[in-house]
Amino acid sequence: MTQAPDPLEDSLATITPGAGAEIQPGPGTGLTAVHHRVEPGDTLSTIFSSLGVPMADLRKIMEADAEYLALATLQPGTEFRLTFDEANQLTELALEIDAARTIFFTKTDDATFEYRQTEAETQWVSEVLRGTIEGSFYASAIRAGLTENQIASVSQLLKHQVDFRRDLRAGDRFSVIIGQELAGDESTGKSRLEAASLQLRSDTYTAFRFEDGNYYDENGKSVLPAFRRWPTTTPYRVSSHFSRNRIHPVTGRKAPHNGVDLATPRGTPILSTGDGIVQRIGNHPYAGKYIDIDHGNAYKTRYLHLDRILVRKGEKVQRGHKIALSGNTGRSTGPHLHFELHINGRPTDPLKAEIPTAADVPQALAGRFEEETAFKLEVMRNAGSRSNLMLADKS
Ligand SMILES: [Zn+2]
Repeated sequence: MTQAPDPLEDSLATITPGAGAEIQPGPGTGLTAVHHRVEPGDTLSTIFSSLGVPMADLRKIMEADAEYLALATLQPGTEFRLTFDEANQLTELALEIDAARTIFFTKTDDATFEYRQTEAETQWVSEVLRGTIEGSFYASAIRAGLTENQIASVSQLLKHQVDFRRDLRAGDRFSVIIGQELAGDESTGKSRLEAASLQLRSDTYTAFRFEDGNYYDENGKSVLPAFRRWPTTTPYRVSSHFSRNRIHPVTGRKAPHNGVDLATPRGTPILSTGDGIVQRIGNHPYAGKYIDIDHGNAYKTRYLHLDRILVRKGEKVQRGHKIALSGNTGRSTGPHLHFELHINGRPTDPLKAEIPTAADVPQALAGRFEEETAFKLEVMRNAGSRSNLMLADKS
C-alpha cells in the first residue's frame, strides 16, 4: 500500500477540545470566537467534529500546514482560537505558539486556508550557571540548573575537543551563559547557549555563540565541523526549487516552497547534513513521514516524504549519518526527497545558503568577537554559583 486511505485518521494525535471551550461572540462583527487550550490526548479531528466544523476544512488547513508542520505536534498548553462567521463557517484558526508568536490559518476567497505567522518584538537576557564535576557531566549539569537540551548543546559543542566520558575528573569546573527569550517580561520558553567553558586540571575548553549563530572557541575557530550541502551521497536532479511563491504541482495554487525537491528513487539513503539531535519525527497527512534535526547552532534541517525513518527522537546523529530511506509518503507526485534548511528559524534555499564551513570568525568581525568573548569569559569567571546577572542582548 503506497497511500493511507485517509491520512487524517492516524495523524493529528495530539490536540484538544479542553474541558470547557469558551465561546465569545464578537459584538457587532457577526463573528464568533471559540477558545481552546491543548490538553494531552486531544486531537484536532475531535475538536473539529465536536464543534461541527466540516472535516474538509481541517483537510485544507493541514494542506496549508504541509510547508510548516505547525500542527503536526501540538504541545499541551498551546492556546488556539477558531473564528466563525454569521453562517457559522470557520474563517480562521489561530494558535498561540508562545508569548511572542501566533500562527493563523485564514480562509481565502477560493476557500482554501492561508498560513501566516506574527511575531512580537523579543529580547534575550542571560544568566550564568556554574558547577563542579561530581559523577557524570550530565548529573553535575542538572545539579547546576541546566536543562537536558542545554546539556546536550554543551556536549555537542565541546565534544570535538573533550571526551566527556574519559577526560572529566571530580572537581573539574564548568560554567555556561544561558540566554532566555522574553516578550515583554514574559518568557517565550526559548533558550540558547551563549557560552560554555569547561576547566579541566590544566586545560580550558570554550565555545562562544557569535552574531552569525555559529559557535567558536576563544581564538575564533569554529567548534563544529563543516556541513554537507547534500543530504544524499551524490547530488540528485532538482525536481522543484526553493521558492517564496511557486505554483503547487498538485493544487495549482501559489504557495511558498520552503525546501528543495530532489528526484531520489524510493529507498535512497538520506544523510544528516550536520551533527545534531533528532528533534522530532512524525507522519503528516500531506508532508508524509518526516524528520527534524536540530544542529545545535542556528541551523535546523527537515526531511519529508520518507519511506522509512531510521532514527529515534532525541537521538544524536553525526554529519553523514544515515537517518532515513527516501520515499513517497504524504501527498506527493512521485518519489522524491523534500529537504529544508532553516537558519535562525527561517527556511532558506539549502542549495544556495551559506552553510557552516568550519571556518574562523570572519576577519572583519574579529575585533567585535574578541571584545564580546572577553566580556563573557569575565562574567563566567566572576559570577557566583548561580548568578542572575542579566546581559541585555538584542540579537
Ligand atoms: Zn517539496
